[in-house]
Amino acid sequence: MNNNVLIELSHVVKKFEDDLIVKDLSLKIYENEFITLLGPSGCGKTTTLRMIGGFEKPDSGEIIINGKIFNDLPPYARPINTVFQKYALFPHLNVFDNVAFGLKNRNKKYLLKFFNIDASLPSKEQNKLISAAIKKAVEEALGLVKLTGYESRKVNQMSGGQQQRVALARALVNKPQILLLDEPLAALDLKLRQNMQYELKEMQRKLGITFIFVTHDQEEAMTMSDRIVVMKDGIIQQLDTPKHVYNEPVNRYVATFIGESNIIEGTYFEKEQVEFLGVLFDCGKYPFVNKEKVDVVIRPEDFDVVPLKDAKLVGKVVSSIFKGVHNELDVLVGDYKLMVNTYENYQVGDQIGLKIDPYEIHMMKVSEHEETV
Ligand code: ATP
Repeated sequence: MNNNVLIELSHVVKKFEDDLIVKDLSLKIYENEFITLLGPSGCGKTTTLRMIGGFEKPDSGEIIINGKIFNDLPPYARPINTVFQKYALFPHLNVFDNVAFGLKNRNKKYLLKFFNIDASLPSKEQNKLISAAIKKAVEEALGLVKLTGYESRKVNQMSGGQQQRVALARALVNKPQILLLDEPLAALDLKLRQNMQYELKEMQRKLGITFIFVTHDQEEAMTMSDRIVVMKDGIIQQLDTPKHVYNEPVNRYVATFIGESNIIEGTYFEKEQVEFLGVLFDCGKYPFVNKEKVDVVIRPEDFDVVPLKDAKLVGKVVSSIFKGVHNELDVLVGDYKLMVNTYENYQVGDQIGLKIDPYEIHMMKVSEHEETV
């Protein structure tokens, strides 16, 4: 990712009949960036992606690519390809013809320019060079997705994961500047999906193409993205790196959509302390006024279980679930149930002590009207 803006959405609005689906959305996407639109079903991710790809027109606002307004240009006139969840392959064609399809359907003038072929050559010679160039491009694309040698296989004789790779090769064959991916891994089983996440990220890094990825899976977004756009009801809630979105959520919605969080009412004091669950904790400096009510966010893994004499909080384990690497505890502190992750084993009924490092305490403005997920 570099600092050159490649795509800008400026105050984009999209309605379907009377339903406002995307509400005044502004967003800059940089060259070579892997950016993910993340949010629950129906929040407008796909609609936003489709407007970038040219499959939908915004009702107002602008879609700017390489500094030019693209609102009215059709998909084929954009430096963009799309990989859909349902791969949209031609089942009766073999792998080679599926991947070559987009190039073969371009006019000759485009292909001569695209492959840098001398237009003054005799037509027959041009055709031969174009055919050879398409063959080479398809082979390269198949190499990228690790399907070399599969050229003559019918796609309906391939596994879901392989079909997904064919769809990817088809989208990469004409070297687009931007690749849109709409939940491309959703149909794959978990292991395959995790492998593909890794491969996609590697491919994006290697090719330097800007990837705009849509998913409702927060783990997928965290694994692959340079930045994540967290959306809800057609509005961007937070746009930041995975680390920041996780560690410094801006509201309850983000804090609960991305991972598990304890969100506790507290009071901030300007001497860089916060009081919650009846105890005063040191914390960092926040732009709140003295004694302002705040929402305190603590991730379950950020508690330290310590001997009772060293504890800031003491609670009783009311539930303990073994999760393989760690245990997930529910700990009752007063009448507040905290989620705590620990590597140690504790039984229901155990009394345990808890401590939190100041930098693990994150605070947000109280968002009373913000529903959680
Ligand atoms: P999902 O993960 O389920 O695809 P999403 O966040 O991508 O969700 P969109 O597909 O953008 O959401 O849809 C947002 C809303 O817009 C939904 O309520 C959907 O029904 C509606 N919608 C999308 N396309 C159309 C259309 N062509 N006509 C009418 N309504 C539409």
